[in-house]
Amino acid sequence: MAKSTRNFPCNQCGECCKHVHMLAETASLDRGDGICRHFDVDLKSCRIYLQRPDICRVDRQYDLHYQSAMTWEAFVELNQIACKTLQAS
Ligand code: SF4
Ligand code: SF4
Repeated sequence: MAKSTRNFPCNQCGECCKHVHMLAETASLDRGDGICRHFDVDLKSCRIYLQRPDICRVDRQYDLHYQSAMTWEAFVELNQIACKTLQAS
């Protein structure tokens, strides 16, 4: 599947960017309270969106680590479960 056809259904809640301390791969982004140093809390948006690291790119993570293990749709479903868990916390 071409990368351009992949779109993760993010509702832009910002919860993943507010819990970067929970993942070893994003812990270095923590500004000290679990929130990413690049996250604009008021606008609920990433200040470096176009340059954000690969770990913040769902499609890139799929390409790098998961495409041989599962379909894009299954990967989206797993990520959405993580999103819902964060949103409920
Ligand atoms: S937690 Fe999920 S839905 Fe919310 S901003 Fe992050 S990726 Fe998008
Ligand atoms: S770099 Fe951007 S997308 Fe990644 S966690 Fe920080 S604010 Fe979120």
